[in-house]
Amino acid sequence: MAFSSEIKHIQTSDVNEKSGLYQYVVTTVDQSKYRLFLTKDPDWKLKDVNRLLNFPCPVCRKDYYCKCANKHMPELEAEFIKQMS
Ligand SMILES: [Zn+2]
Repeated sequence: MAFSSEIKHIQTSDVNEKSGLYQYVVTTVDQSKYRLFLTKDPDWKLKDVNRLLNFPCPVCRKDYYCKCANKHMPELEAEFIKQMS
């Protein structure tokens, strides 16, 4: 199945302005949830992504950790920036 990078909800998870590290939990339109690890200096940069285990991975169907979302980091970053602006 295809990966959906379209974000429908963004929740702040952890903000550390001193270190410039930000964590957000995003929900995509297919209900998958991902924790995004970002920096802001001054532009947002997506450093890492972890899928939360609420649903099996939309790509490989595994219900434990996989790296599928990491291949879509540029799309997730672009979508996150779009939603935050
Ligand atoms: Zn996967």
